[in-house]
Amino acid sequence: MRDMKLVFASNNAHKLDEVRRIMPAEIEVLSLNDIGFEAEIEETGTTLEENSRIKVEAVYHWILDNGHCTLDGVFADDTGLEIDALGGKPGVYTARWYRLNDGMSAAAPLNDEMMIFAANRAKALRELAGKTDRGAQFRTVITLIWTQESGVRNQDAPLQVSGIVRGRIAEEEYGEGGFGYDPVFIPEGYDKTFGELPAEIKNSISHRARALQALVKALNC
Ligand code: IMP
Repeated sequence: MRDMKLVFASNNAHKLDEVRRIMPAEIEVLSLNDIGFEAEIEETGTTLEENSRIKVEAVYHWILDNGHCTLDGVFADDTGLEIDALGGKPGVYTARWYRLNDGMSAAAPLNDEMMIFAANRAKALRELAGKTDRGAQFRTVITLIWTQESGVRNQDAPLQVSGIVRGRIAEEEYGEGGFGYDPVFIPEGYDKTFGELPAEIKNSISHRARALQALVKALNC
């Protein structure tokens, strides 16, 4: 594989850390901070595929306007938790699920990331209280746009790949590792949550790891 420099279009430091650990050494992953991109990207799509593309296009156009000519491309990850008993919810609303009205008045917005993660996990446990079907999956959709002519595809046909990890929602929170819903998600084949399992295990079987493996495979073609 040739050396490449790609920007990861996310402000999520946890995702960035995982992506850097998972990507092969030939691929240098730059953050939005590294390139000076500061705008908030509004995720207005109704699917993970759309939101992944919205994020990558916003950064791609900014890169063109700001002349970062040494970059090879930019990619974005949009991830959703899809719970079987809830018909695939929260899906595209995973990041702000705690705020969605579930019969009570919508919760006030929180500023602190850790509080948002905790409120989302509490909602997952509440929604599944008393349910025996606890099956769920994380799904990540990655979209890549080349910024160099040398790329196999251009922005009119972005490369899109996905990765899924099946599992189940725990009865309560376990562990403090990972981020987001990790302390309530038990991946298939294990009896511990992503919050308890070592990062190396999460990063070898996760939705994000599988989507990145698909991306790397596509880049090698
Ligand atoms: P988005 O892809 O940035 O919209 O992220 C959606 C939300 O999904 C995040 O805010 C987290 O709450 C959650 N999330 C994304 N990836 C993971 C993961 O690997 N583990 C646990 N939760 C995650």
